[in-house]
Amino acid sequence: MGAWHVHCYDLKQFSAAVLRDKPENVIIEIKVMNPDGQGYETQEDAAYAAYVDSYNNEKFLNTSEKEEIIGLLIQIEKNGLTRYYYTSAGITKINAITKIRTDIPDEWLSMGLKIAGGFHSHPYNPDIREAFSDEDNQINGTYPMFLRTAKGGFKVLERHLPLFDKPVGKNLCPEVSAGYCLDPHPSVP
Ligand SMILES: [Zn+2]
Repeated sequence: MGAWHVHCYDLKQFSAAVLRDKPENVIIEIKVMNPDGQGYETQEDAAYAAYVDSYNNEKFLNTSEKEEIIGLLIQIEKNGLTRYYYTSAGITKINAITKIRTDIPDEWLSMGLKIAGGFHSHPYNPDIREAFSDEDNQINGTYPMFLRTAKGGFKVLERHLPLFDKPVGKNLCPEVSAGYCLDPHPSVP
């Protein structure tokens, strides 16, 4: 793939209130997966592919109750079409500020490259709901944020909700699946 360019993205830009509860910094290094492939037509398709990707799925299954996977969806224009790609998943801690360094093919810099979404997971933990956190809602100002829940839910938060509105998001699993369509975390009883 030739030279790759490392971009530093702050996926999570927190308010001062959130920062007070985030004593740690985690820097993760991820890369675009299958950059020579055709990519996906929608962010939703790319996010689903990101979760079922065998490398990323394994990462999720190995997270602890205090960890989550996190990655990006990248948009480019390829042969006149808007296409979406996903990155490898990195592991961060639920109580940390996450900085993301992303390897992207150099030639993509002239192909309308931009971040088109984020994907992450929530651990199985009695204190963490099978839903988006208020923090997710705060981050979600500019692009869709996808969530994989511990029980295997696949959801998207499509827009920034007014403060104090519970960010429930939209369930993307098919209705026949009772809300779950991804592998559950092994810690789920
Ligand atoms: Zn979250």
